[in-house]
Amino acid sequence: MTTFNELGLSPELLQSINNMGFEEATPIQRDTIPTALKGTDLIGQAQTGTGKTAAFGIPLIEKMDTRSRFVQGIVLAPTRELAVQVAEELNKIGQFKGIKTLPIYGGQSIVRQIKALKNGPHIVVGTPGRVQDHINRKTLKLENVHTVVLDEADEMLNMGFVEDIEKILENVPTERHTMLFSATMPKQIQNLAAKFMKDVLLIKVKASEMTVKNIEQEYVEVKERQKFDALCRFMDIHSPELAIVFGRTKRRVDELSEALSKRGYSAEGIHGDLPQAKRDKVLRAFKNNTIEVLVATDVAARGLDISGVSHVYNFDIPQDPESYVHRIGRTGRAGKTGYALTFITPREIDHLYTIEKITKRKMVKRSIPSVSEAMEGQQQITLEKLMEVVEEDNFSGYKQTAVELLEENDSVTLLAAALKLLTKEPDTTPVNLTDEPPLSVKKRRPNNRFSDRRRSSGGKREGGGGRDRRSGFSKGDRSGSREGGSRSGGRDQSYRSQKRVREDFKNRG
Ligand code: ADP
Ligand code: MG
Repeated sequence: MTTFNELGLSPELLQSINNMGFEEATPIQRDTIPTALKGTDLIGQAQTGTGKTAAFGIPLIEKMDTRSRFVQGIVLAPTRELAVQVAEELNKIGQFKGIKTLPIYGGQSIVRQIKALKNGPHIVVGTPGRVQDHINRKTLKLENVHTVVLDEADEMLNMGFVEDIEKILENVPTERHTMLFSATMPKQIQNLAAKFMKDVLLIKVKASEMTVKNIEQEYVEVKERQKFDALCRFMDIHSPELAIVFGRTKRRVDELSEALSKRGYSAEGIHGDLPQAKRDKVLRAFKNNTIEVLVATDVAARGLDISGVSHVYNFDIPQDPESYVHRIGRTGRAGKTGYALTFITPREIDHLYTIEKITKRKMVKRSIPSVSEAMEGQQQITLEKLMEVVEEDNFSGYKQTAVELLEENDSVTLLAAALKLLTKEPDTTPVNLTDEPPLSVKKRRPNNRFSDRRRSSGGKREGGGGRDRRSGFSKGDRSGSREGGSRSGGRDQSYRSQKRVREDFKNRG
């Protein structure tokens, strides 16, 4: 274990870190902070949720000169949400040193941003498009920038931001310190690094160290049409505090969140097509626990720091193993144990094997719970709540009524009726859910689990099964429409099945 005291930080920074409640440095922080403080260009590669923001944020803020009124540091991030999140974290880290960080992103009034830029932030965190815009308007000058960070670089490349990044970097003095952070390390990132960084040090925290540690992983094989009832029953049994349900397409997310709401769950969906204001609202509601279930596409959820997620449900198996790791990284954060359940239709079993190979974890197979099991789960929850109230012992106002009721009825009948009243019974309200075709299989893999386990060891996540399927993505598309089925193959099938909208969703099994 490494404490922050051992990393050679100033008292102001140690005070902020302490204030933020961090007790020890995460592996990527332990490995990058001392190197970054020396000013060495570096690439930091570690899984989502491992604290990469502070890994660059701490040295970045240490290097800021409080007296300067110019922008000295710039961080590029792929989305508005991430820019805001990173800026919030940097402002916390910089609070005692007095370092101000400003997020700038598309969608917010440019006039407001220009005003804010005039106030002289030390650091700007921005999305590449908007940063470019300000550079062109000369409202953001980068000639005094000495430190540059590219955060979630893989995601920025996926979104087609390469050219913007290159243009922005041309505006920063070449005598600078550049850091790049990414969860994965595709070839293009290495190209980018070769072009814009000097004597780069690659600091990599092995995938196996944290991918799926302390996350309980299970899967269930279901027919497409059983998925929704199965999901409801699992949730009734698990009774998640905060859950994320992942769907493959935007339509899927819309339909699922509506269907869940119909069945009495407090659910909302987010995906790339929703107006920004709506997405913000949903995320806030989820963070404040006013909704319990967030339904999301990969793109909408990626990189977001949502803590306290107890359960992740992969309603649709993800497109590639890396997305799987990203998705389940939403749970089990900061030392808590998490839980992830993946639904697969019979034809998708090979995808599951691929994921197991990459994560080097075998998932436990579950069967679909029966209605009575779901019911039992809910009763158990009611019982626990009831016993809590019994222990609190402040219901004397109800005792007289209880005595009177018992004069007319027997206690078992009364208690059973009260339990029924308190219990959320399995709901079978009909819902509409369009069939999603199974993930296409490009290449059949041997049905032999772990047969070439050794080959996939040691963080080779970017190779192996991921690559061939990735080629189906449209890389240059930054509107995120790849959520909406830009997958190659299976198109005809998808059109056909879209027509078969289900009216009824009766219990099966
Ligand atoms: P990443 O960028 O690697 O996905 P983040 O930087 O978003 O991860 O960090 C994930 C969460 O972990 C955040 O809530 C962050 O505040 C928290 N965190 C970061 N470093 C530490 C630490 N050393 N101790 C405890 N929590 C931390
Ligand atoms: Mg991050």
